[in-house]
Amino acid sequence: MSGEFDLISRIAARVSPRSDVILGIGDDGAILHPPAGSELVIVTDTLNSGVHFPESTAAHDVGWKALAVNLSDLAAMGATPAWCTLALSLPSPDDAWLDACIDGFLALAEQHGIALVGGDTTRGPLSLTVTACGFVAAGTALRRDAAKVGDDIWVSGTLGDAAAALREVLQGKSCVDVLRSRLDRPTPRCALGQSLVGIAHACIDVSDGVLQDLGHVCAASGVGAEIRLDALPTSDALVALTVGAERWRLQSAGDDYELCFTADPSQRDALVTMSNTLGVRLTCVGRVVAGDGVHAFDANGREVRLQTSGYEHFA
Ligand code: ADP
Ligand code: MG
Repeated sequence: MSGEFDLISRIAARVSPRSDVILGIGDDGAILHPPAGSELVIVTDTLNSGVHFPESTAAHDVGWKALAVNLSDLAAMGATPAWCTLALSLPSPDDAWLDACIDGFLALAEQHGIALVGGDTTRGPLSLTVTACGFVAAGTALRRDAAKVGDDIWVSGTLGDAAAALREVLQGKSCVDVLRSRLDRPTPRCALGQSLVGIAHACIDVSDGVLQDLGHVCAASGVGAEIRLDALPTSDALVALTVGAERWRLQSAGDDYELCFTADPSQRDALVTMSNTLGVRLTCVGRVVAGDGVHAFDANGREVRLQTSGYEHFA
């Protein structure tokens, strides 16, 4: 096993440069040059082993997911990713595990042109905290407090795949790859988030379940939401595995890292075009109404109260 400084050197040697990184890994702090006229968006998220990913998760996927959940937050703000840091806590690390973890992290970082500019490496229970920065043109970030009564509510991709995979894993069952990869290697919707600037009103990423996350949009915006549960976008793999309320519960359980956003109905054509251009499924699942809270309905228009409405750490 390498020492802390060998590890840091190994990470530093693999990082791709960016011209706006004046000083990256190696000093007490990074020096970075944001573009003139832009605002900086900063996000941070921690993944704890056994809480945010099953202990059986491959090292590569742990690295990938730690960055993915942060890129998803940047996407939800409409920001273009630029820089990130990685604070790693490792119990009894081995080189192979670390290399694979950094492989996964940097594979996703490269896809999105985000540079790793610093971090911290300590001993402790396995945990990864990433802080990521991105840019938006001044005043254009997508926020939770901007939903308007009459807006359509849209969701990207499909919902419930990661929750289904987690259920299978926790029950000791094998799980089809398409579902397992949605749990282990979520796809942050960065291009979509950036394209939604100027088109969407409010936006949030679906990390704790669509009903709960949409509830945050409603609370921040002072509006209510009506959702058609049968309209929630569902993968073929999830259709094959689940029916009815069981499916809806999984679809509102979280870990999806899709975007949920509101937009004026006049944007429907633009959103269909965007969906085709980006190759990302976009589904209208409901609308913003006067009032408060998220109300879910079945295909017959009957209101449905699901037993679980999403993930909460201290519940
Ligand atoms: P200090 O003790 O001054 O905080 P460290 O020894 O923790 O410095 O880190 C040395 C350099 O390596 C710093 O630039 C830091 O940002 C970077 N670094 C440490 N751990 C990581 C990591 N896991 N990933 C990326 N950079 C790291
Ligand atoms: Mg340090």
